[in-house]
Amino acid sequence: MDETQSTAAVLGGSVSGLAAATGLTRRANFSRVTVYERQEYDEKRVDCGEAINDTTLIPLAKTPENGFVNDVDGFQLRVYDGTDRPLDARPLATSNVNCEPGYICERDVIERRWAAALEARDVDFRTGRSVSPDEYAEIVESYDYVVDASGQPSLTLKAMGNTRAYTGDMVALNATVEGDFSAYRNRPRLFFEGYVGYAWAFPKSDGHANVGIGWAGDRRPDDYFGALEAAAERNSFPVPDRADVNIATIPRGPSLDPVETYYPEQNVFLVGDAAGIANRYQGEGICQGIRSAYLLADLIADGNESTYPRKLSALMRSEYRLAQLMRGAWVEHEDPKLLASVAEALDGLTIDDITRRPAAVARRVASRPRTAIDLIADAGMIRRLYGVATDSWEYTAERDARYNR
Ligand SMILES: Cc1cc2nc3c(=O)[nH]c(=O)nc-3n(C[C@H](O)[C@H](O)[C@H](O)COP(=O)(O)OP(=O)(O)OC[C@H]3O[C@@H](n4cnc5c(N)ncnc54)[C@H](O)[C@@H]3O)c2cc1C
Repeated sequence: MDETQSTAAVLGGSVSGLAAATGLTRRANFSRVTVYERQEYDEKRVDCGEAINDTTLIPLAKTPENGFVNDVDGFQLRVYDGTDRPLDARPLATSNVNCEPGYICERDVIERRWAAALEARDVDFRTGRSVSPDEYAEIVESYDYVVDASGQPSLTLKAMGNTRAYTGDMVALNATVEGDFSAYRNRPRLFFEGYVGYAWAFPKSDGHANVGIGWAGDRRPDDYFGALEAAAERNSFPVPDRADVNIATIPRGPSLDPVETYYPEQNVFLVGDAAGIANRYQGEGICQGIRSAYLLADLIADGNESTYPRKLSALMRSEYRLAQLMRGAWVEHEDPKLLASVAEALDGLTIDDITRRPAAVARRVASRPRTAIDLIADAGMIRRLYGVATDSWEYTAERDARYNR
């Protein structure tokens, strides 16, 4: 198809949708790109810690006016031996990981400015109204390409009545609070405290921060809000008002069979959270979503869009594998001392290393033979190693069960 004559609808105008519109107008050359977003950009809700680890992916100047409010050096991981500890207990380990292109952001501002920049380049925005299942069918009918960036569960899977295709999620809460964050403004903190997940305090300035908590494992508290408040007290950041707290889920990537990310007959493609690709260990999904959208735009520009599911899996594979093993260090062992030793081994690496470069992490862990042996000498970890080596995920098990394999 000659894409200079083609039209595209982007469903969802958050980071992945905006990246899709950017890619389609810049790299592919569409005659019309329309973004459907149910919220208004002036009052958009943000369910997010607002840490963007690779801001080079966003085509805006990195200014406070564009929402890039705190240019951080990296993050500090603080590992404690549990949640039941004296308030003045020292961490078992602190470890600094670096992130040169990272910012703590006002994400709603970034999205507003990004959408405005696209609008100036003739991208059409339909905002303030949810796309209904009927409208979805009309859109699919009337555009040549549809990029579904509507989050998890996606509009496409909702329209097909197939939201159970997602095989896992995490839960996270966040809020913006006021306080004194000057002591660690340049190095936001992540607090690991014996459960599978963590709390965070990400300063946006000396006087305000995004704070929150998330659970990457299947064991979740009965009272999410109470758990956030207790984490705030333990870790000396202000307790947010319940009315200000957002709660949402994040995919446990890969939480969707790649074959469900592309519907050739309708030319529908899923990107970002809709495609279930966020990091299953630390919940990062912004850069993952943007990368998936740029990949898709490049493939469309080259006429190779049918390879999208395979290329997306290939792009994400190292990250999926590393995140599965990192999570294993928590889930299989439940040993804060081991976790502290792993965190210390990571000191000085970059966020990119610890999310996307298994070899960099393996080298560091191997430099501490006792830690490496303790980590691997466990049946659960051996199963995980076999699973990642053979690319076995929850969706693979579901697929096998469906076909009685
Ligand atoms: C509490 C919390 C903290 C997090 N912290 C971080 C972090 O610090 N850094 C990070 O990288 N990631 C973080 N994540 C994950 C990250 O927020 C997501 O991975 C990311 O938002 C995915 O972007 P997306 O554009 O794919 O989907 P979404 O952000 O879910 O956007 C989907 C868009 O589609 C729109 N939409 C949905 N349905 C319709 C409809 N029917 N019609 C029209 N529009 C529709 C929505 O309004 C929304 O704008 C966090 C998540 C949570 C829950």
